[in-house]
Amino acid sequence: MPIRETVELLAQAASALQTPDNLRGLREREWSALRFLARANKFSRSPTALARYLGTTPATATQVIKTLEDKGYLARKPSPRDKRAVLLCVTTQGERLLLQHDPINGAVHAVATLIEEDRIQLRNALNSVLSRLESPYRQVNAGVCRGCFFLNKGAASTGSVKPGSTKLGSIRSGSIKVLTEAEFRCRLHRAPIAAHETELLCTSFERAGEE
Ligand code: SF4
Repeated sequence: MPIRETVELLAQAASALQTPDNLRGLREREWSALRFLARANKFSRSPTALARYLGTTPATATQVIKTLEDKGYLARKPSPRDKRAVLLCVTTQGERLLLQHDPINGAVHAVATLIEEDRIQLRNALNSVLSRLESPYRQVNAGVCRGCFFLNKGAASTGSVKPGSTKLGSIRSGSIKVLTEAEFRCRLHRAPIAAHETELLCTSFERAGEE
């Protein structure tokens, strides 16, 4: 089997994905942070989670955040889950920058030319290889929520509807249980997860097993 050839191709791909110095005024770490925050879920858009993702100290992550804020690509908002915490939000300007100038866009377009079956196989193979490699420094491998061990699928949360609710028509007595928007639940964070959030990155991700 062409094992070495495959690894050499991986090395070539990694080299092709390297960000040129100071592209659009940002260093590689700042591009990486912006790209991550644009796809991170609500638990991972904090300065601490960003530091873990980048494998840096909190002080370095703070500097990265400040640079992105100063350029108008990032904004801090109070977290709806904890008023003392901040949520790092990519601004419209930041999203536009990623869409038009992210140095990995060329690779995104190249992968998009593959047929879907090949794209899934490539993703799964890379996931499998990366999960067996030690991350450099203290960097965590953030994963997509839908493949996480902690995701409780099909655990729809329920709410009650009072009698006479116009939404559900006439209910004669008592209350009934209805499905709410959250169809998933995170057992680690003990919080509901909306379907669209299962496609986002999380730094607390634990692989559930091969897909
Ligand atoms: S289920 Fe896993 S990936 Fe999803 S929010 Fe919870 S810890 Fe993060």
